Amino acid sequence: MRPPGGAPVHFHTFGCKANQYDTERMRQESQARGAVATNDRGAADICVVNTCTVTNAADAEAKRFIRRVKREDPRTQIVVAGCSAVLRAEEYAGMESVASVVQGHDPVEVANAVLGVVAGRGPLVQLGMEPGLAGSHLEPIGAAILDRREGATRGWLKIQDGCDRKCAFCATRIARGASRSRAPEDIVREAHQLSRHHPELVLTGIHIGHYGRDLGSSISLSRLLIRLLERIPDVRFRLGSIEATEIDGLLLELIRTSGGRIAPHLHMPLQSGSDSVLRRMKRWHTREAYRTRAVEVADALPRIGLGADIITGFPGETDTDHQDTVRLVEELPFTYLHVFPFSSKDGTEASALPDPVPQRIAGERSRELRVLAQEKQRRYRVSRAGEASVVTLESEGRRALTGDYLRVQVKGGETRDLGRLHSGVLRCGLDDLYVELRAASPSRGPWSVSAMERPERFHVSSA
Ligand code: SF4
Repeated sequence: MRPPGGAPVHFHTFGCKANQYDTERMRQESQARGAVATNDRGAADICVVNTCTVTNAADAEAKRFIRRVKREDPRTQIVVAGCSAVLRAEEYAGMESVASVVQGHDPVEVANAVLGVVAGRGPLVQLGMEPGLAGSHLEPIGAAILDRREGATRGWLKIQDGCDRKCAFCATRIARGASRSRAPEDIVREAHQLSRHHPELVLTGIHIGHYGRDLGSSISLSRLLIRLLERIPDVRFRLGSIEATEIDGLLLELIRTSGGRIAPHLHMPLQSGSDSVLRRMKRWHTREAYRTRAVEVADALPRIGLGADIITGFPGETDTDHQDTVRLVEELPFTYLHVFPFSSKDGTEASALPDPVPQRIAGERSRELRVLAQEKQRRYRVSRAGEASVVTLESEGRRALTGDYLRVQVKGGETRDLGRLHSGVLRCGLDDLYVELRAASPSRGPWSVSAMERPERFHVSSA
């Protein structure tokens, strides 16, 4: 039997930021129990695969990856966890070289599985749970505090898990259960810890607009943000994806008056600009409700990174429906879009809907929207030239991310310290936008940045 300390473990993540956060917790818990995390998959004895199940293709991709790991090094033992493992545990358990399946994201269960493999306890496959909402995979998010996100400038700060909505195309509720919010004090403690390593923290979750609803107090996403701004100085916060209808006036006011401490960036899933498609998708908002909120956002925040997810070729989508989406995209000040052709997911309502749209047409509609989005992004980038920006650095300081979610090249600056925010001016180069960094102000601490104004006084109490 090999001592736990001698077991190099590689962690591989599919899926969203929430899943990436979960992997960090799995890594931290496994390390605390003696495992040695390695970024080099070839050097690992064990590979933990944190899966995604957003589409059937995502399930298939995880299986392909597992087969590849096995092919490349037959001795590597694999622990499968995450969303796809909730729904397809038996399929993973039947795969060669899968030593253990954990249905969900519980870091303690994953660490137990890793140590079980190290101890040579044979296959530990936690089967028998019904895929669905009642399974024990609905682990509480817990009070354990994540220390850092390995190797990254920006930290993920998970504030809730699960979702109470029932969109027809989505399996996330089946895989992750109903919305559960973390206690505000745990979030503040974790933000404090993460702020020692990361100059920007992204509030992540599955449905962050519902933060606090299950806590039975007056806490909400906006009030949580006020606490974070007051208690964690000199860090920029950014919101993960948030539904347009859940952005209230207070949230907009906080972003507007935060002096850049809340990044002026909102990613508001749209999915379709056609009311009939939205109805079939079981979305709760209309085209007009979305449009109105997007216009309010743009009025309140003239300089904002505004993004959306769109699905093309949802069952029954006609060319007229698609043109409704195109017109809405043309009208609204999006700075980028994530556009995907509809991909069926077993077990969802959408997978049983009639009138499938041929893949070729769904693909063409996606391409049309992507071209439109690229042109909108190009125009926005050009309009930002000559303006100041506070950035986080990426790629060893060669690239940067602005508050309004533009990725740009970096020039100038005396230091390229990835552990703090930098200020600079955006310039248009021959090829693209770049940021010319200013020298850091020596009078400020390592987390501060001279261009970052103190936020104006907030208009509500954080009580
Ligand atoms: S929550 Fe959704 S997107 Fe994230 S990993 Fe799970 S299935 Fe994939």
